[in-house]
Amino acid sequence: MAKTVKKAAKKAAVKKAVKSMKNVYYFGGGKADGKGSMKELLGGKGANLAEMAGLMKLPVPPGFTITTEVCTYYWDNKKNYPSSLKAEVESNLKKVEKETKKVFGSVDNPLLLSVRSGARASMPGMMETILNIGLTEKTIPGMIKKTGNERFVYDAYRRLIMMYSDVVMEKAAGIEPKDDKGIRKVLDGMLHDVKSKKGVKDDTDLTAEDLKTLCAEFKKTVKNVLGKEFPDNPMLQLWGAIGAVFSSWNGKRAIAYRNIEKIPHEWGTAVNVQAMVFGNMGTDSATGVAFSRNPGNGDSHFYGEYLINAQGEDVVAGIRTPSPMNKWSKNTHSEHLPTLEQVMPKAYKELDGIQKKLEKHFRDMLDIEFTIEQGRLWMLQCRVGKRNGTAAVQMALDMVKEKLISQNEAVLRVTASQLDELLHPAIDPKAEALAKIVGKGLPAGPGGASGKVVFTSEAAMALKAKGEKAILVREETNPEDVEGMRAAEAILTQRGGMTSHAALVARGWGKCCIVGCGELEINLSKKTASIGSVTFKEGDFITLNGTKGFVYLGQLKMLEAGEGNNNLTKFLDMCDKIKRLDVRTNADTPEDAVRAKKFGAKGIGLFRIEHMFYGTNAEKPLFILRKMIVSKTTEERTKAVNELFPFMKKAIKGTIKAMAGFGVTIRLMDPPLHEFIPQQKEVKEQVCKAMGITMEEFDSRAAVLHEVNPMMGHRGVRLGVTYPEITEMQSRAILESAAELIKEGVKAMPEIMVPVVCHENELIDQRAIIERVYKEVVAKTGVKKLPLSVGTMIEIPRAAIMSHKIAEQADFFSFGTNDLTQMTFGFSRDDIGGFMGAYLEKGVLKNDPFQTLDQDGVGYLIKQGVKGGRSTKAKLKIGICGEHGGDAKSVEFCHREGFNYVSCSPFRVPIARLAAAQAVAKEIKTKKK
Ligand code: PEP
Ligand code: MG
Repeated sequence: MAKTVKKAAKKAAVKKAVKSMKNVYYFGGGKADGKGSMKELLGGKGANLAEMAGLMKLPVPPGFTITTEVCTYYWDNKKNYPSSLKAEVESNLKKVEKETKKVFGSVDNPLLLSVRSGARASMPGMMETILNIGLTEKTIPGMIKKTGNERFVYDAYRRLIMMYSDVVMEKAAGIEPKDDKGIRKVLDGMLHDVKSKKGVKDDTDLTAEDLKTLCAEFKKTVKNVLGKEFPDNPMLQLWGAIGAVFSSWNGKRAIAYRNIEKIPHEWGTAVNVQAMVFGNMGTDSATGVAFSRNPGNGDSHFYGEYLINAQGEDVVAGIRTPSPMNKWSKNTHSEHLPTLEQVMPKAYKELDGIQKKLEKHFRDMLDIEFTIEQGRLWMLQCRVGKRNGTAAVQMALDMVKEKLISQNEAVLRVTASQLDELLHPAIDPKAEALAKIVGKGLPAGPGGASGKVVFTSEAAMALKAKGEKAILVREETNPEDVEGMRAAEAILTQRGGMTSHAALVARGWGKCCIVGCGELEINLSKKTASIGSVTFKEGDFITLNGTKGFVYLGQLKMLEAGEGNNNLTKFLDMCDKIKRLDVRTNADTPEDAVRAKKFGAKGIGLFRIEHMFYGTNAEKPLFILRKMIVSKTTEERTKAVNELFPFMKKAIKGTIKAMAGFGVTIRLMDPPLHEFIPQQKEVKEQVCKAMGITMEEFDSRAAVLHEVNPMMGHRGVRLGVTYPEITEMQSRAILESAAELIKEGVKAMPEIMVPVVCHENELIDQRAIIERVYKEVVAKTGVKKLPLSVGTMIEIPRAAIMSHKIAEQADFFSFGTNDLTQMTFGFSRDDIGGFMGAYLEKGVLKNDPFQTLDQDGVGYLIKQGVKGGRSTKAKLKIGICGEHGGDAKSVEFCHREGFNYVSCSPFRVPIARLAAAQAVAKEIKTKKK
């Protein structure tokens, strides 16, 4: 199936390339064939070069772009080009020659070219650049004569040899260097040796003679190492470079980057061929990279770095410490260096004017590359600049204030992950870039954390008590671990998926967590663990990146979360003005409710009663619950249920009070019974003693409770159908809490939700109990205005399909997409760790469906659920409370499908608010088009 689809797509792409015929787009001299909106065809770089050169008439060295369609053609046709390409390149080259008044390959007046890749989405550092193409034994003397600068020409030549041998002769030829020591490293080493022999620090200190000798040595080395002569023909160099850029699209680095960034592999790259301008022609020349605003903090001043007498790659490569553009660009390394504004005031002024013009034109922060050749400014590239979370929020707010963009546009300028950065501590990206990933798992709880390894909850608590940070490392977690999980800085597990116990609990607390790290092996007796060949022991430091799912050894530097960030509040308030969806939270304690309110939650969409049996002060109710679970008779059970009542009421009342004025959806217990059966001998003994039963009796009752497939077993509403006293007690706890609060003057708005419903009769059964209790509570308390709202979760496929019938019995629906995903895919939500990694790696699935809603499959059932429900009750309130409620793409889906609200863990609330606003903004944008 997949193969057929791929073949068809390939054929279509080939046809398109042949049909469009135009494979090369010229730009320069105030004209351009393309424009900024043609990113798909010309790549980001090519499209913006066309926009700058043509529409904006900025000083751009002339050149041409070979389209991304040619790249697709090249890969579909055994690395051959469309037949017309050669002639098109030649005719465009003629135009460049005319514009520059130079000739490619000329002995007297040679034109040199740069060849650069440029995909639709920027792939920094992943793709290739080759400069100074056209330098040969024959053109070198001409260049020297024209420029009168022999040193410059040999510097340019040594760069060409270094880049070309690396990109074209080694990487594109598929040569895998031994010991990771590629030709580039070999040549770099030689350059370094020459500098040390001469006792100089910088490349600029080498003379023409030094460089000339070095070039000759380079060429010999290239021949020796790669077995081929360095090409001495300009056209051969040019076509070699073009082919290498297309090849690089499927290089290892590029593929890996696209996998991480989820950039489609079929997009292809364009190739930009451009006349060279030189920043290395002496002290009146320079090159630099700048941003129209500071990408690190969003400050609205022009910001950047430059190097005198250098070519572009030197700035990025960090060979010399670049100097600051202006006073706003100074840092501790560069504060003593002269600014471009001081050194070349004329060029700086022009550049500053251009960056302002570019911002106005593109209406965003831009990343600019420029070169100053003997005092003359040239623009080499501009693209929308990457920025961190702090900067993204600052810029969005500033640009609205400056009337550069609308509020709708502003909310689209901040991504969910940028917002997430502001809500959690994170590993310092500089430290992370240098560290080696030792293991990978599923990114279950975002942010970063560093601490000492512990293998038990007790050890985590003990370490916390000493004021130290613990990382709890477990095969998997269960409710007995909760206190340790709370005490730990972060959690790492071998098993489990994105909705496993550890993941749910950690995310609820905003805790960093990685689950399903399949390679992790724990040896509890030795108190050691290993991931692959790396072993660590209790007390060793490890660092987790819970946003990406990466594990590192040692203690990496951390950055604090943006506490009390006024900008964040302002930005999210702006989102609220735009969004239509309400954002509630999944919370089960007053503390979580208060936290979620701070993050902007308007109500609780899921209060899981069973969570009162986890964590602080849970010992006593947990003990009673265990008695309830192993009860055999109704009497035994009723006794336990009555004992449980005051605890449950207290937990519920506190949370309703904390969310006063907003709806609080309390879900009847859906306890994973098997998880609550005690395993430890002492606990078992205590339960036996309290119930007056023997250990054998206990074990035989536990054996009866054992289920082969507990996820599809005696849970949710089924528990309430078999044991009505459990539903009765819970309803009473909820309704009495609310009635008492109302009496105290608190605006209590409880909603009772029945889980795991598959048939309307289940709801009829439960509703009867709840309504009976409601009447009793009203009579007992005298609170006549006690609200009554009974709804259901839609989390079983049958419920979604039969939603029209179920809606007859429900005041609201809340989609439980954790279970709905589990049952639609047939993937156990606790066991996906074993295969999800392979599914994602092989592209069998694009996303983990427990993280990002499967809009096609699960989404189909949701659509049906909404349609059916609203066909019965047009105004039926509909929400989502599965983990997807905090995933940006899933929130957008809920908006489109006409939901009333989404509900997610407190720390995801800001992201849901952003995503809900973005959904509206996108809708408006699409309508405008
Ligand atoms: C769900 O299934 O989506 C849900 C919210 O319930 P739980 O995760 O508690 O099963
Ligand atoms: Mg569920």
